[in-house]
Amino acid sequence: MPHDIPPAAVPPVLAGQPLTRLINAAGTFTPLGVSRSSNAVGENAAAALRHFLVIDELQDMAGAALAAWTGADAGAVTHCAAAGITLSVAAFLTGNDPDRIAALPDTGGRPNRIALLAGHAVNYGHPIEQDIRLAGGEPVFVTQDGADPLGELEATLRSDTIAGLLLVSSRLVRSPGEDLSAAVRIAHAAGKPVVIDGAAQDWRIPALLDTGADLVVISGHKYLASPTAGFVIGARAMVAAVRAQEKGIGRAMKASKEAIVGLLAAIAERRSVDPAAWSDEQTRKTAAFVQRVNSIAGIRAEAIDDPVGMPFPRAHVMVGNGDPAATRAMCAALKAGDPSIRVMEHQLDQGVMVLELVPLSRTEIDTIVERLAEAVMP
Ligand SMILES: *Cc1c(COP(=O)(O)O)cnc(C)c1O
Repeated sequence: MPHDIPPAAVPPVLAGQPLTRLINAAGTFTPLGVSRSSNAVGENAAAALRHFLVIDELQDMAGAALAAWTGADAGAVTHCAAAGITLSVAAFLTGNDPDRIAALPDTGGRPNRIALLAGHAVNYGHPIEQDIRLAGGEPVFVTQDGADPLGELEATLRSDTIAGLLLVSSRLVRSPGEDLSAAVRIAHAAGKPVVIDGAAQDWRIPALLDTGADLVVISGHKYLASPTAGFVIGARAMVAAVRAQEKGIGRAMKASKEAIVGLLAAIAERRSVDPAAWSDEQTRKTAAFVQRVNSIAGIRAEAIDDPVGMPFPRAHVMVGNGDPAATRAMCAALKAGDPSIRVMEHQLDQGVMVLELVPLSRTEIDTIVERLAEAVMP
């Protein structure tokens, strides 16, 4: 993604409307519109809206593109990653059985318990276990407080009521120490399929597939910057069972024609990017920002790598020596201004604002630096 992103036209129906002007340094955050699509993605999605298209053909094409890009056997587009989780659980519960698919979320009394490590029970705007319940599954939390959490996982998976395992790869996960590959091996030894939620991990797909998980769920609209979409990749039979849900609960979470076509364009764009060069660019961008912030008296910044291995750093900004009250006040001042500057707030208690610069233009970064300087000087 170029460092100097040209300003995009305002949608005509929004012109003159009293909407908040934003600089989003809070990452791929759904309540702020998640990401910025490129012109090519936008043009493809817009063109799709002007045509009748056979959705099955689009899905087949997208499945082939996902397989070619990721190396997975098969792929399917869903409305979003949350839908992908629900439809993966549904696939575990019903396979390709049309009657069972039509009956969900009623599972007819068949085993429906899905294991989830307690530390993976993330809340990304809603509790992830609700995605399991939406399909008719019942989440079972495996505690990780004891000496042998993987042993506990094994015991839970070997109990005969469990239909599968949901693992999450995210910086939101509370116990990142758990080895995903080991958990997958344990589940497979117990004869249970595994789905990994890697929603914001599109740069790490090979590592997630390498765990041996049956299905991996990714967001299209996060770093890939497609229209609202998700996708599920993995074993052919499992992906087919996900697609089969389109005639069941998947109807309420369908992938639209414009999303599938926009995702195809986003995949083509991603395949033209050199990952090492992209990563270097993000590192340089963040380092330059950190250096500028450190020249402002009273605040301090540091570049910190993504905790789960996404290939870019974020800027941690602290007021004074990381004073929580002062950092909170700074965060509020940034938010209250025009444009409203949003940062990640999950470390405010430790006196840290976290800024993600990936989608921001040079001009926006200049504005952030200026506003930080203004906010330090009372
Ligand atoms: C963002 C996110 C989701 C949801 O993704 P959507 O595509 O917006 O539905 C699910 N899980 C995790 C860990 C996420 O970060």
